Amino acid sequence: MQRFFVPPTAIQNDRVTLTGPVVHQLTHVLRLSPGQRIVVLDDSGWEYTVELQRLGRGQAEGQIVERWEAQGEPRTRLTLYQAVLKGERFAWVLQKGTELGIAAFVPLLCARNVVRDPAAVRQKLPRWQAIVREAAEQARRGRLPRLAAPLPFAEACAQAQAAGGLSLLAWEEETATSLKATLRAGLSNLQLPTSNIQLFIGPEGGFTPDEVALAQAQGIRPVSLGRRILRAETAGLVAAAIIFYELDDLS
Ligand code: SAM
Repeated sequence: MQRFFVPPTAIQNDRVTLTGPVVHQLTHVLRLSPGQRIVVLDDSGWEYTVELQRLGRGQAEGQIVERWEAQGEPRTRLTLYQAVLKGERFAWVLQKGTELGIAAFVPLLCARNVVRDPAAVRQKLPRWQAIVREAAEQARRGRLPRLAAPLPFAEACAQAQAAGGLSLLAWEEETATSLKATLRAGLSNLQLPTSNIQLFIGPEGGFTPDEVALAQAQGIRPVSLGRRILRAETAGLVAAAIIFYELDDLS
């Protein structure tokens, strides 16, 4: 059954009223008719089987026939602070990161970003939001990952420190500590709660030494992803997959 994230206001008691692009998808793309069923999610952590009853121009109505707790979410809440990348690569990270289970994305503005204008980044947010939504529906996520407004590096570090949990910065110059060792330490040391992780990935030109020092001063731990240099769009996804795997969130 097809899955659709809808605004909470679309659900009143056991009635569901759909408007906007989803109606076009139901009627013209999927060509569904009354009596057929879809799954609807309101980002509450619940999923609802809905039997369609009316499909008209611009509006569709249905009845909830079943509800259950969404299963598609990792236990680990991972926020990816990913430096904004040129072209389609940032959108690609959003799509793949949503499939993996990332809970939130923060477009990062670093000193060496190629894309640095916050206004230009804000203009992309609606399209990026649609990519996240479609990826979450396809991946059977139980919740819609949050896509934040672009944030300058220093503000992002302060936000991550305030969030608590374990904050990591992937740095190719780091030689002492690997991501794996840090996660293993976190699992065995309650002072390093691994249920809530913030992960920083730099831009095409990497983090500056000043940025790394600022992050460390805020308790954000540099970690290595190995000896090979990964492209920024590769590093965020590889690190996320390693985190979910090590914390048994991919089983
Ligand atoms: N210094 C890199 C170079 O020589 O090409 C540029 C940065 S790299 C393309 C983009 C980002 O990916 C880095 O800022 C870092 O966050 C992450 N990254 C790539 N390879 C890494 C590695 N082996 N260990 C840790 N982080 C890595």
